[in-house]
Amino acid sequence: MYVDLHCHSHYSDGAQTPEYLVSAAFERGLSHLALTDHDCLCGIEQLWRNAPEEANLADKPGWRELNLIAGVEISCDWNGLEIHVVGLLRELNAPALATLLSEQQHQRRQRAAAIAAKLDAIGVSGASDYLAALPATALTRSHIADFLVESGACKNKQKAFKSHLGRRGKAYVAAKWASLDQAVNAIQATGGIAVLAHPSRYPLTRSKLSRLIGDFSAAGGEAMEVSYANLDPTAKKRLLELASEHSLFYSCGSDFHTLDSQWTALGKYPRLEPSAIKNAIWEHPRWHSIVSAGRTVYAPPSQDSES
Ligand code: AMP
Ligand code: MN
Ligand code: MN
Ligand code: MN
Repeated sequence: MYVDLHCHSHYSDGAQTPEYLVSAAFERGLSHLALTDHDCLCGIEQLWRNAPEEANLADKPGWRELNLIAGVEISCDWNGLEIHVVGLLRELNAPALATLLSEQQHQRRQRAAAIAAKLDAIGVSGASDYLAALPATALTRSHIADFLVESGACKNKQKAFKSHLGRRGKAYVAAKWASLDQAVNAIQATGGIAVLAHPSRYPLTRSKLSRLIGDFSAAGGEAMEVSYANLDPTAKKRLLELASEHSLFYSCGSDFHTLDSQWTALGKYPRLEPSAIKNAIWEHPRWHSIVSAGRTVYAPPSQDSES
């Protein structure tokens, strides 16, 4: 079992197509891939639409299989803080999720337009045209940061967030995100599992993080990420403890966005130790129904394999 349950395509703020992610997943030898774009399902819909109905591998020795799980990463508001909830979904057409995501996308478009207007007002023009030409369904501040770098207004993305797009930035605009309850309920309405994303990345003290996890669990959340790119061993140990205290299953994923980042690649995160496997998300009672509702895609034997 080698899963990556968190990554992005160019339908949100990833740089790659969904098809690229599938070929990279085969290259890395993954068994399961969940595409989890911010607040949209277009990438996984495209992959599912183009996946084969069924494959008879009996006469194709050495062919490899990859399970494609439907996923999403929903931005939520928790006491004024932006929290991300990953959903591993059983179906794509559940009305409650569709309604929530269309509202989130609307919020994203409105916020992007408001940020573009603020940028215009300080003499940085062209953001709207830049955004309109992107393939993204979910517009993010990451896209606007790219624009600020490409237009020469900022040196790099970090600086663009600090000076313009972050909470204290010149062009900061808040968005009205869903509550934890709304996000978890919409995920569960598909038969899916709600996963608290990258808990160590929120600006929270230990006790506040524990309170967030308690609230997430009370809302019906059933898993949390305990391993992802750039997580140090001490933080990982702490997350394993917190997940166990709150009886949450352990999820893992790279949060891969782009090949430009030297510290992430698809499938790159510290693997779970054997002692942690009993609480891994693939031990969740609904895991199999989620995987079997997904699609399986196939690739010929790898060139470096012996057979
Ligand atoms: P949004 O969901 O529109 O607020 O956009 C947030 C996205 O921007 C995140 O998912 C990250 O991919 C990216 N991001 C957030 N903060 C930074 C940062 N300081 N530097 C680069 N990318 C960032
Ligand atoms: Mn992102
Ligand atoms: Mn996130
Ligand atoms: Mn992410």
